[in-house]
Amino acid sequence: MAELEGKTALVTGGSRGIGAAIALRLARDGADVALTYVSAADRAAAVVAEIERRGRRALAIRADSADPGAVTAAVERTAAELGGLDILVNNAGIAPYGPLEDARLEDLDRALAIHVRAAFAAAQAAARHLPPGGRIISIGSSLVERVPDPGWTLYATSKAALVGLTRGLARDLGPRGITAVLVHPGSTDTDMNPADAPEAEAERRHTALGRYADPGDVAATVAHLAGPGGAYVTGASILVDGGVAA
Ligand code: NDP
Repeated sequence: MAELEGKTALVTGGSRGIGAAIALRLARDGADVALTYVSAADRAAAVVAEIERRGRRALAIRADSADPGAVTAAVERTAAELGGLDILVNNAGIAPYGPLEDARLEDLDRALAIHVRAAFAAAQAAARHLPPGGRIISIGSSLVERVPDPGWTLYATSKAALVGLTRGLARDLGPRGITAVLVHPGSTDTDMNPADAPEAEAERRHTALGRYADPGDVAATVAHLAGPGGAYVTGASILVDGGVAA
């Protein structure tokens, strides 16, 4: 039997990149999957079609993570339409980058809203549905562990809060048998960070493996943590960074 057979998952930002790879991988492992998106309705529909082609139920929900009400509604809709919620993956993200002096407080607020406030709201809403064995998996960044270049202060600040969120959730929900984990990808080939961009060579040099991650590399770790292999992992941050922080 597939490891996630009978489970239901919600992946925020599942229309493209790492989120799409996670949604497809969880479905491959047997889960029914809802995913959110904010603008790429066509890409979200394509992921849903692929999941359905694999014989699983899927649902695309437009939900701007900057709006915690929309995120909470996505959790409720997933539980109602897919018959429960076992796995929440907080993945939706943006990549504000640039000189410190150009960063505006509005930019910080937006990054915090999408990366932190949405993850908190989703986790709080999900906690009402998650059964024993439930999982909350958030996607952070290797930049939380090590910032090898300038320009990332705002992004790293917003992602770092997920460490506290994950540890707190582990304590709050551990007594119910629910785990919370943070996965920190390094440079991963997506629209956000294409491996063929001019600045990609510098990122590649920061890795020990000498290459970008494929989104599937990150999805494989998330699937492991979502399945039986993740049963005793909670409150932890897991680097999937090709050795950037080594
Ligand atoms: P992409 O830009 O390729 O995809 C981003 C996804 O998030 C899309 O599905 C997008 O939806 C969704 N999204 C963006 N903003 C919002 C919003 N306001 N509300 C709802 N959904 C939103 O990014 P990646 O796949 O590369 O990144 C995924 C996660 O991984 C992010 O949290 C990112 O910070 C993190 N990460 C990425 C790394 C990398 O090198 N790629 C490295 C470390 C961490 P839509 O398609 O509708 O726009």
